[in-house]
Amino acid sequence: MRKMIPVNMPLIGEEEVRAVTKVLKSHILTGRLGSGPNVKQFEEKFAKFVKTKHAVAVNSGSAALHIALWAVGIKTGDEVILPSFTFIASAEAAILAGSRPVFVDINPQTYNIDPKKIEAAITEKTKAIMPVDLYGLSAEMGQIREIAKKHNLKIIEDAAQAHGATYKGKPPGYFADMACWSFYASKNMTTGEGGMVTTNNDEYAENLRIIRSHGEKEE
Ligand SMILES: *Cc1c(COP(=O)(O)O)cnc(C)c1O
Repeated sequence: MRKMIPVNMPLIGEEEVRAVTKVLKSHILTGRLGSGPNVKQFEEKFAKFVKTKHAVAVNSGSAALHIALWAVGIKTGDEVILPSFTFIASAEAAILAGSRPVFVDINPQTYNIDPKKIEAAITEKTKAIMPVDLYGLSAEMGQIREIAKKHNLKIIEDAAQAHGATYKGKPPGYFADMACWSFYASKNMTTGEGGMVTTNNDEYAENLRIIRSHGEKEE
């Protein structure tokens, strides 16, 4: 029989089985405005883990990228710069948000977007840069931040593969307006399916929560 090496088998132990069973037995599978008690707790703990003020959980990393672009105001006709080498969801999110993905070459040393090539791709329609921290290696966020500042662009960091990564000692999101995470089964950390947007910006966090809950808002 041919044996496969499980390269990304999720670690599921008794603790996880007990936690899920407890939720099922509680009959509380959702809460007010998009997050039940466990999701709320997860958001708080994840925010601490990535040293950020707000964490907003969604159903996938793709949804996280989509609503992040929406929450910073990306609209039809805008351009979003992203690396030519990433998982396709990064580009799909830009299209779902109505914008046009503009691909910039990667640095073959890091496999991440080459900051030296970003400025040549900026037009008057460019509104955001979406660097991707591929395979757990952070993009060169310091340089990207400088470029974004100079051209007044938002940074949505795709950290779907970068839980626990650091850049100059800082977690993903530190140099960005928002970071987006995936908890898909093959990622560094999993909930089966799931995603999160993290941000230090109160207004963006409010936008994210409103988008997540179909326009409803907590009083
Ligand atoms: C997995 C992944 C996504 C999408 O996350 P899903 O939870 O699968 O929707 C986006 N970007 C990158 C770089 C990814 O690896």
